[in-house]
Amino acid sequence: MNSDTVRSRLIPLKVALVYALIGVTWILFSDMLLASIATDPAELSRLQTYKGWFYIMATSLVLYALVNRYVLRIRRSEEELGEANQTLYSLIQASPVAIIALDPEGNVTLWNPAAERIFGWSAEETIGRPSPIVPEHLREEYHSLRSRALGGEVVSGVELQRRRKDGTLIDVSLSTAPLFTPEHAIAGTMVLISDITTRKRAEAALRESEERYRIVVETAWDAIITIDEESTILFANPAVEKIFGCRPEELLGQPVTVLMPQRMRQLHLEAIRQHIRTGERHMPWGGIELPGLHKSGREIPLEISYGEFKKEGRLIFVGFLRDITERKTAEESLRRSERKYRALFEESKDVVSISTPEGRLIDINPAGVELFGYASREELLGVDMARDLYFRPEERERLKKEMAERGFVRDFEIEMRRKNGDRLTVLVTATTVRDETGAVIAYRGFMRDITNQKKLEQQLIQAQKMEAVGKLAGGVAHDFNNILTAIISYGNLLQMSLTADDPSRTYIDQILALADRAAILTQSLLAFSRRQIMNPREVDLNEIIDRIEKILSRLIGEDVELRVSRSGESLPVMADVGQVEQVLMNLATNARDAMPEGGVLSISTEQRVITGEFVRSHGYGAPGVFALIKVSDTGVGMDEATRTRIFEPFFTTKEMGKGTGLGLAIVWGIVKQHNGYINVYSEPGKGTTFRIYLPLVTAGAGKEPSAAPLPALATGAETILVAEDETAVRDTTVALLEKFGYRVITAADGEEAVRKFGENRDDIQLLLFDVVMPKKNGREAYEAIRRLKPGIKVLFTSGYASDIMYKRGILEEGFDFISKPFTPRDLLNKVREVLSREPAAQG
Ligand code: ADP
Ligand code: MG
Repeated sequence: MNSDTVRSRLIPLKVALVYALIGVTWILFSDMLLASIATDPAELSRLQTYKGWFYIMATSLVLYALVNRYVLRIRRSEEELGEANQTLYSLIQASPVAIIALDPEGNVTLWNPAAERIFGWSAEETIGRPSPIVPEHLREEYHSLRSRALGGEVVSGVELQRRRKDGTLIDVSLSTAPLFTPEHAIAGTMVLISDITTRKRAEAALRESEERYRIVVETAWDAIITIDEESTILFANPAVEKIFGCRPEELLGQPVTVLMPQRMRQLHLEAIRQHIRTGERHMPWGGIELPGLHKSGREIPLEISYGEFKKEGRLIFVGFLRDITERKTAEESLRRSERKYRALFEESKDVVSISTPEGRLIDINPAGVELFGYASREELLGVDMARDLYFRPEERERLKKEMAERGFVRDFEIEMRRKNGDRLTVLVTATTVRDETGAVIAYRGFMRDITNQKKLEQQLIQAQKMEAVGKLAGGVAHDFNNILTAIISYGNLLQMSLTADDPSRTYIDQILALADRAAILTQSLLAFSRRQIMNPREVDLNEIIDRIEKILSRLIGEDVELRVSRSGESLPVMADVGQVEQVLMNLATNARDAMPEGGVLSISTEQRVITGEFVRSHGYGAPGVFALIKVSDTGVGMDEATRTRIFEPFFTTKEMGKGTGLGLAIVWGIVKQHNGYINVYSEPGKGTTFRIYLPLVTAGAGKEPSAAPLPALATGAETILVAEDETAVRDTTVALLEKFGYRVITAADGEEAVRKFGENRDDIQLLLFDVVMPKKNGREAYEAIRRLKPGIKVLFTSGYASDIMYKRGILEEGFDFISKPFTPRDLLNKVREVLSREPAAQG
């Protein structure tokens, strides 16, 4: 039964007394009461029968009052005690400290909720039993504590361990005291226990972190000093000794300014004052470089940063001071080595530059200033690279992209621009410079000017192209020439066999006229491919100009003015006059076409020395003295794409039927064949200038003109050995010669020719040999025959031009020669001429 139920059943004393009074009164006075109520004896006796019941009720009432007040007295007194100690009771219930009472035998008599919470056992589980919380190993200590308490001693704040219901041990703070009876006898012990596990743990953590900081501070390389608002040193770590030369103890209580050079002290004090007043830091978090003062009086470069905290409302500053002497020395030596590299930079002949990705130059060496043609570095640093230095700004975008992707470029070819607008070809090799976050902040690069090299390359490519085209055109022209020779020969034979009034005559006339035009075309191609027969002699270039001036002015028409200026001195060259004239005519024709609205055509000649420098920068020529012919017009000019192709055969920009594209190809071939050079300068709208360089003849050892008047169409009766591998050419030649009275023996190659000669050696008076034949060439066959019959006459023929002839030594040695395609007249006359000549003239 708990105290609450006791309390609720206990009736108040006054009520109990009333109950008892009513009961007693009833018992004592019931007879009198009944007598006064009853009106007659019968009624009285009837009422008396209920009297027993009333007695019982009255007695019960009295008993109830007695029992209620006296039988439950003990419990009621306990309850009264509880009421009296209500505060104490609540305290015990609410206490966060476990409160446990033990009787003298050590059995639990009190186990409050905190004890339940801390140890896990409930009051029911523990009351009346020995305390379960004492771990085995502390049993002895427990007994001694308990006996001390039972002996009347109060023990407080003992830290030890106790066990929880789940078996774990916890740190507790324990106090114990004796419990007394009202008679002051010892009635047991009282134990107060608080759980201090968390506090213990926090303490341990604090100790550990303090230890950590202590180690950091003690072993730090940086000096760590704390000062108060008056700049008095409160603490200094051991590193101060290494840096400032004084022990930490020496510094305590001193003003921190003793560690600064005189001139810094006031500044420091002001800064601190400022900080205290405004709360604003006077240094960046990263620290700043300031000088410190060593005990010896020497200054020390320091890097200083600081933090602050509040203690009792006052600021404490913690300073970190790092000795950067070594870094300074390293920086100094870096500066020195930088000076060394600076010299490399300044003196490099290649351009060295640093630029930003946005296109600003940060630095560039003198080679760069010179290359780009600026007055000074400063002027160059001011330009917008993409706009001012790049020929095509989009090329810089391309470069940037590559740099971003790969981090570098190597031999990146870029067209750049000098200040005066000249175009440069430059090879760039560059790397990126990045900051700590990896972002590209600059490009470091080298540039090499390859403009000249590029020009030479172009020239070489051009020369090779012309060479290849020349070979091709020459090869085709040669074969075509052979066919043409046959066509012309047959055509002539046919023409001769027709009577004057034959209606077919006009056809054959047409065929022959067209064949002639075709022959001119192949001749042009042969000229271009330098396979044209050349008839050079020493001649003054000025003479040629004089001779052709009239023709040229007729050629260019009235709208174009011709201005000719000859050099004062004579310009002797070895030249085929006809070919040089053709060059001038072709150039004049083009000039006329370029000036449909009229203009000026200027032709001038002069003597010009070509130097090694010229050769290097132009990529052609050989040093020496040259005759220069300059042909300029004021016409439409050309763009670059056109200019690079004009010498190609069949290249024309003119409409169908107007241009053949052969004019300049012929010019090219002729100039080359004369061991000369030609170049062109032209821009759209600015006219065109051709310059032709022909080597000057120094000693006057030229060939005499060999132009002898030819006899009329001739016949003969001699026997001729015709050796020719082309069947068509051979057949027509034979047909022609036979038609004009000759006897002809034929051979298809060199060996057959020698054999046929052996068979007919007495009859044959003339050899008509093609130069290029299988098995034995014309020259070899002739040499073999000459051994059999010295003095035998020979006439060579070929479609090939002079190079090959020269190789075979045919023209050089003065052999008679007729080039294909030939007309019947040419052949008959030449055959006649050779046969009629005295034998001694040959060989
Ligand atoms: P064609 O005259 O038959 O076109 P050319 O070989 O003579 O062939 O010339 C080739 C091209 O060179 C011409 O079509 C023209 O575009 C250009 N050219 C030559 N000479 C000049 C010039 N003096 N002015 C402008 N363009 C020229
Ligand atoms: Mg032309």
